[in-house]
Amino acid sequence: MEQAHADVCGGNVCRSSDLLLAFVNSGPHGSGQAELLGDTEALAAWMTGAGLMGDSEAITGADAVAGRELRDALATVFRAHSDCPDGAMLLSDAEEYLRRTAERYPLTLRITAEGCDLAPSQTGILGAFGALFAAAADLASRGIWARMKVCKNPTCHSGFFDKTRNSSGLYCGSACSSQAAQRAYRSRLKSEKGLQR
Ligand SMILES: [Zn+2]
Repeated sequence: MEQAHADVCGGNVCRSSDLLLAFVNSGPHGSGQAELLGDTEALAAWMTGAGLMGDSEAITGADAVAGRELRDALATVFRAHSDCPDGAMLLSDAEEYLRRTAERYPLTLRITAEGCDLAPSQTGILGAFGALFAAAADLASRGIWARMKVCKNPTCHSGFFDKTRNSSGLYCGSACSSQAAQRAYRSRLKSEKGLQR
C-alpha cells in the first residue's frame, strides 16, 4: 500500500484516474454543472477530446444512452467508496450493469518488458468505452480503486481521487469539507436548541 501511495500520481495512475473522474464529472451534479454527454455529437466530442477515438467514428443514439448509463454506474460505485447515499442507481444495480456491459467492451492483455496492462480489443466508440474499463482495471490492479470517490458535500458531489494517507477522505477539497463542517455545526446548534425547549 505504501508503494501504491508513493506512486499515486505517477504515470498511468494519473491518466486512469483523471480519465474516469472527467467521465464521471461530465454529468449534472452539485450546483450548475451542465450535461456534457447529452447527445451523440456531445459524446463524440467528449471521447475525441479525451483521446479515446478518432473524430470520424460512427456513433448512434444508443451509444449516447450507454455512455450516460455507464457514467451513472461508475458514479454509484464512487459514491459507495465515500459513503454517499445511492444516487441515480442502487449499488447492486450498478455492479450488475458494469458486469454485464463489460462483456460488450472486451480488453486485451499487452505485455512488455516494463509490465503488462489491458487495452481495448475494439476500435471506434466500442474501443473508447473499453478504454474506460481498462482504466478501472489499471486502478484496481494498483490497489487504489477505493480511492475513486464522490465528494460527500451535497452541493458538490464531484468525483475526486482521495490522496489522504489512510484513504479516509470524504470531500474533494478543503472548501467542501469546511462547508460540511459548518452545516453539521449549524444542525447541531439547531437540535440543541430544540432539546432546550
Ligand atoms: Zn466537493
